[in-house]
Amino acid sequence: KELVFSGVQPTGNLHLGNYLGAIRRFVEMQAREAQCLYCVVDLHAITVWQDPEALRSQIREVTAAFLAAGIDPKRSIVFNQSQVPQHAELAWIFNCVARLGWLNRMTQFKEKAGKDRENASIGLYDYPVLMAADILAYRATHVPVGEDQKQHLELTRDIAQKFNTDFAASIAAQGHEGGFFPVTEPIIGGPAARVMSLRDGTKKMSKSDPSDNSRINLTDDADTIAQKIRRAKTDPEPLPSEITGLKERPEADNLVGLYAALADQSREDVLRDFGGAQFSAFKPALADLAVSKLSPIAGEMRRLSADTAYIEAVLADGATRAEAIAQETLDATKDIVGFVRRR
Ligand code: ATP
Ligand code: MG
Repeated sequence: KELVFSGVQPTGNLHLGNYLGAIRRFVEMQAREAQCLYCVVDLHAITVWQDPEALRSQIREVTAAFLAAGIDPKRSIVFNQSQVPQHAELAWIFNCVARLGWLNRMTQFKEKAGKDRENASIGLYDYPVLMAADILAYRATHVPVGEDQKQHLELTRDIAQKFNTDFAASIAAQGHEGGFFPVTEPIIGGPAARVMSLRDGTKKMSKSDPSDNSRINLTDDADTIAQKIRRAKTDPEPLPSEITGLKERPEADNLVGLYAALADQSREDVLRDFGGAQFSAFKPALADLAVSKLSPIAGEMRRLSADTAYIEAVLADGATRAEAIAQETLDATKDIVGFVRRR
């Protein structure tokens, strides 16, 4: 049976990369009749400093974005991580399974910690272990994410496999067949699996990028979107007619990929229509397309964000449903590890 889990951090302005690389794909998975859990990962957010009032409103805003994009809180389970304590509890057990050497290889930590690594939080270092707990608390089989999360998904798989091997005898003794945790499949792909910064074609678009011009926020108005795309960094050549012509042109490749994702086309399709065009012609077409796709979502996000009571009711209901599943996993995990349970 398919079980889908994914999360988004309430760390700031949601952007086109979050939408095309993750949230829109969450909606596609929901349409596949799978049980889906979509989580606002606030425990992850505090691995870097968050202003408490801003955090509260960002949690509501990410929830609103999920719903505005088409996630149905009756069909899918929508919740925030801190309301389901099993995530943190399972993370502790996984801390004792994961190896220091595995975490030392994580590139997101290196990027986010920057030069002042000694001053990064322990939580930032441990982030991928908590992420494994998020996923495996539900024994999720599929995780739709952007390309940047590929390495963390591999770590999740390593933790599941090591747990299954380390405790193989106990798992069998407890009556579970063929291992306890599934080896989760990442679902990464499409033309927008890695949307790049509009200011630097070698850096991914991020909520935490200090330059607002580097990204298109889901809540930007039409003029702002058009202006950011007009100012987006490009090279002086016209668009190529063949996909191979995008090699070593990261900014051009990024804008073509954005157009393709927004229009539900491939990069080849876009180049068939725009090959030979100058950016002065392509950029306005891209801006119009982005505005037409984003403005209905932005409107709905604004409407829902204002309805705090509704958003909080959705999160409470989601947490109750999520917790029921996670508690079962945790009870079984504790039995496997050898803890004595309160009966
Ligand atoms: P932060 O800078 O705080 O890490 P973020 O923009 O990376 O924020 P996350 O909350 O970390 O956003 O990630 C949420 C989801 O969005 C993940 O599945 C991630 O892979 C995806 N995602 C993030 N940035 C991009 C991007 N530029 N292109 C495609 N997918 C992305
Ligand atoms: Mg991120």
